[in-house]
Amino acid sequence: MPESPYPMIPVSEAIDIILREVKSLSPVDAAFSDALGLVLAEDIFAAEPLPPFPASVVDGYALIAGDTGSRQIIGNQTAGYVADLQVKPGQAARVTTGAPIPSGADAVVMVEDTAERDDRLELTAPIASGDNIRQTGVDIAAGQRVLSAGTVLGPPEIGVLATIGHVTARVYPHPRIGVMSTGDELVPPEQTPKAGQIRDANRFALMGVIEQAGGIPVDLGIVPDRQGGLAQTIGRGLIEADALLTSGGVSMGQLDLVKPWLAEHGALFFGRVNTKPGKPATFGVLKGKPFFAMPGNPVSALVSFENFVRPALLKMAGHSNLHRPRRQVILSHKVRHSPARTEFQRAIITRQTDGSYTAVTTGTQASSRLLSMLGANALIILPHGQGDFSAGSVVEALILD
Ligand code: AMP
Ligand code: MG
Repeated sequence: MPESPYPMIPVSEAIDIILREVKSLSPVDAAFSDALGLVLAEDIFAAEPLPPFPASVVDGYALIAGDTGSRQIIGNQTAGYVADLQVKPGQAARVTTGAPIPSGADAVVMVEDTAERDDRLELTAPIASGDNIRQTGVDIAAGQRVLSAGTVLGPPEIGVLATIGHVTARVYPHPRIGVMSTGDELVPPEQTPKAGQIRDANRFALMGVIEQAGGIPVDLGIVPDRQGGLAQTIGRGLIEADALLTSGGVSMGQLDLVKPWLAEHGALFFGRVNTKPGKPATFGVLKGKPFFAMPGNPVSALVSFENFVRPALLKMAGHSNLHRPRRQVILSHKVRHSPARTEFQRAIITRQTDGSYTAVTTGTQASSRLLSMLGANALIILPHGQGDFSAGSVVEALILD
């Protein structure tokens, strides 16, 4: 049997190599409203205090807490402007939530604790100075650091940028990943395959996982197993994308040209990984851009993406948390496994009432059987060196959702 010229390395070593070679993209300025899911590349400070003025917390009456007896109501201060009101001893002003506190007042009594008759106010509950007033800067102090570099901008962070008026933020951009399918047998999904042909599934599945991981897929189409077409499409990808992702053409076939092409034109860091599915997964750098060449079988392509591309994409996007969470799961049934390779089987894991998780695999695990990915919320890891696993065995799983 001819031997592959590429040494077989463990999955962990492959990931280490990738994360050593792949760098974060250069930060850019983005409108805060377009920055959901992006990672901040700067510390953000509030220029002004919030609230910017002492404000009422409730609908009620602004008054002087130390007064006694009923108060004369002198007017209304609703939210959004400053009324020309001055509260003197024995007086009160109607206020609404968020309204500025009229000068002279030192507390607000909520309307539920009062009775109003003929423009005079009676209190039905005690009140102390400062009650129901949000003092200037209690929520955000002027000069306070509100967000730190490295933070992932979720909805509350976007709200913080809005509230302090930081409308342009320095962020790591969405990595643009050029995706191409290689193979003479591939036709676009809308086309009826002729004899010997099949429809291209990988490009669409891979563009989906890229998007889910926060990247922007760049569709580079189908490339036949010819050096010329490969070179041309890769050239386009290098212009339009930050990294390249191919599927197919990395096995031992006579037309599997991607690995030799990459080795000749760029730096090939590995061309074989001790994993199933995904043994021929390949990684290199071409003109400074990461180049991931995934095997053509659809499950191999997706599981290889999960193991090798997703952490790299997250690193390019400035994330520091690059890996899926893992947990121990209990196999609900016997699982066959060859000790020769580390295997990632697709599984559905379910939380039990005692807090443990059980795993059921998704049927036949052939790397061509895309249906084995459907509904899978975990990849169970069957390590190299161990044989079949009996029902009840505890294994580690990557959590996908
Ligand atoms: P390869 O890695 O090129 O040797 O391909 C391995 C298997 O995956 C072959 O049966 C191919 O026909 C199939 N395959 C390759 N690319 C795709 C694709 N884009 N979509 C669906 N199947 C593919
Ligand atoms: Mg092929």
